[in-house]
Amino acid sequence: MDLTDITTVKRVLARHGFTFSKSLGQNFITDPTVCPRMADLCGVSADAGVIEIGPGCGVLTVELAKRAAGVVAIELDARLLPVLAETLDGCRNVEVVNADVLKTDLRALIEEHFGGRPVYVCANLPYYITSPVIMYLLQSRLPVENITVMVQKEAAERLCAKVGERESGAVTVAVNYYAKAEELFSVGRESFTPAPKVDSKVIRLTPLKEPPVDIADEKRFFAVVRAAFSQRRKTAVNGLSSGLSLPKEQVTAALAAIGLPANVRAETLTMEQLSALTDALYNV
Ligand code: SAM
Repeated sequence: MDLTDITTVKRVLARHGFTFSKSLGQNFITDPTVCPRMADLCGVSADAGVIEIGPGCGVLTVELAKRAAGVVAIELDARLLPVLAETLDGCRNVEVVNADVLKTDLRALIEEHFGGRPVYVCANLPYYITSPVIMYLLQSRLPVENITVMVQKEAAERLCAKVGERESGAVTVAVNYYAKAEELFSVGRESFTPAPKVDSKVIRLTPLKEPPVDIADEKRFFAVVRAAFSQRRKTAVNGLSSGLSLPKEQVTAALAAIGLPANVRAETLTMEQLSALTDALYNV
């Protein structure tokens, strides 16, 4: 079955009474070049396992199944289960799990399905949960080779920005702390059914073996990062002071202690400066 042929896909979906849910981010790929390219670039090989998030009608799943030893596809929408049973009928190495990825113990899932194999994550993510999913995958320090995902173009640019660049935000700092982030290729809105209002990009996050800076208390560091970026395009002092419930004078003194002016903006701070600022704020 050609899952990039709109007529075929619509016929299968209609047979199962399926209608697209906007709130679940259901935009399915119908450009035949996109999924093979994603599956190739994620680098999965015949001895590896893949976790896919949100298989939809299975268009990416079949490409992953051709290349991997096994695929576990986590789909929240139970209405898609009979659809996937039909579209993935020929794929003996795919298991569909009906669950919310954010409530799934992925470490246990990897152990259960792929113990000992290299594992990859590859997905066209539902955009309403892009950041939570990526943060969940990175912060749980899953034993994965890489995370190759399609996300909204603007999210891709923020996720792959360098810390200290104009596009950077709290999520940029977090991604750079855990992984090497790369943009792979662009995907226009016309590549989907139904077409979303935004363009997309495929990115690859490769977890780092060691973090780029030594941080004594990660929880405290990320609280400082979130507060510093909470009022974008304004000086960091206000966000830090209100976000951390600290007097402005204390924040200004901490900035001065590491050689930064009171009017510094969060998006210009490097990872090392954010780390030093955390120590200065809490007198570590
Ligand atoms: N993989 C298909 C493709 O590329 O055409 C569909 C991708 S579509 C952008 C996102 C998919 O994620 C949908 O099938 C949707 O039902 C599913 N989804 C949404 N929220 C989810 C969640 N919390 N956990 C797992 N799957 C979810």
